[in-house]
Amino acid sequence: MTLAAILAARIGAAGPISLADYMAECLTHPTLGYYTSRDPLGAAGDFTTAPEISQMFGELVGLALAQAWADQGAPAPVSLAELGPGRGTLMADALRATRAVPGFHDAIRLHLVETSPTLREKQSAALAGHDVTHHDTAATLPDAPLLLIANEFFDALPVRQFVRTGDHWRERVIGLDGGALTFGLSAPVEVPDLLHRGEVTEGGLVELCPAAPAIMAEIETRIATHGGAALVVDYGDWRSLGDTLQALKDHRFDDPLTHPGDADLTAHVDFEALAAAAPRLAASRLTPQGVFLERLGITLRAQSLARNLTGQARDAHIAAHRRLTHADEMGNLFKVLGFTRTRAPMLPGLDI
Ligand code: SAH
Repeated sequence: MTLAAILAARIGAAGPISLADYMAECLTHPTLGYYTSRDPLGAAGDFTTAPEISQMFGELVGLALAQAWADQGAPAPVSLAELGPGRGTLMADALRATRAVPGFHDAIRLHLVETSPTLREKQSAALAGHDVTHHDTAATLPDAPLLLIANEFFDALPVRQFVRTGDHWRERVIGLDGGALTFGLSAPVEVPDLLHRGEVTEGGLVELCPAAPAIMAEIETRIATHGGAALVVDYGDWRSLGDTLQALKDHRFDDPLTHPGDADLTAHVDFEALAAAAPRLAASRLTPQGVFLERLGITLRAQSLARNLTGQARDAHIAAHRRLTHADEMGNLFKVLGFTRTRAPMLPGLDI
């Protein structure tokens, strides 16, 4: 049975489902989910990400986290953790770049939060020679100092969508029209989590990511108690507004309801909600990825790597540098939010 047929049967029997329920089934259904059974990254997949574009991304993120660790007195042991590590490329680049940081590799314990069995295997292979502990959720990360990176993780979590109607909201739901999946609107409901969105005018749409606050709370507890730092990199803005649901298949936009389980589904990240869920931490200013990487010295690193390259490889390297940093490419769309324990220095490349 296809996932589309399973969803249609469920909706036929029990009525329309929320967009978050639909996304959860599409992305992480135990056998037919998009992430469950495939490696979606790279040229043969549906999309690519910053660590897959250039080794410089993981190198600079790794060095930024190692600097935060040194700034906080080099606690040991410290968890070096990643949420949704994809192919493990970022972590492999981070580890290579930080080999020379005195004491860092002796102090770190690697923890990867990943639901996909396929990607878990790729991550273990990419990190061969390192001890890796996989987790289903952030809730089981050790009770210890934490250095955490989440790149393009929060955009993969299911969102609910609400449309303003007077003092209430209508939730966007997925129902059936002649057997095909179709969008509809619920009856007006009150949404306590949207009380702070009084500025949204009639007909305006906002998104809520129900899973994000609990994940941020797990990160907050460890960093507030034991120290450490977290870096969240993703597309989105301080406050989400409008429909940002996006389906990608074979590097092309797709209709979100047409290929359930076979297209990647994402939504922009509402960074305000992440910061609000970790009130005991110091949060940085939300910083464009291009600015962050330039401050960390990506251009110097790019020049040094370019010296050993010629021809096509050199052209590709220059294009990758531009892609990560330029405002017309990923430089402005992607944002970085850093968290540290209050009173600890903010991560390099970011300010408060
Ligand atoms: N960070 C990587 C991969 C981004 S794709 C990169 O930048 O290349 C999203 C990643 O999050 C994948 O590894 C996917 O399997 C994982 N993922 C998606 N939903 C998840 C969830 N609910 N819990 C844990 N991991 C999840």
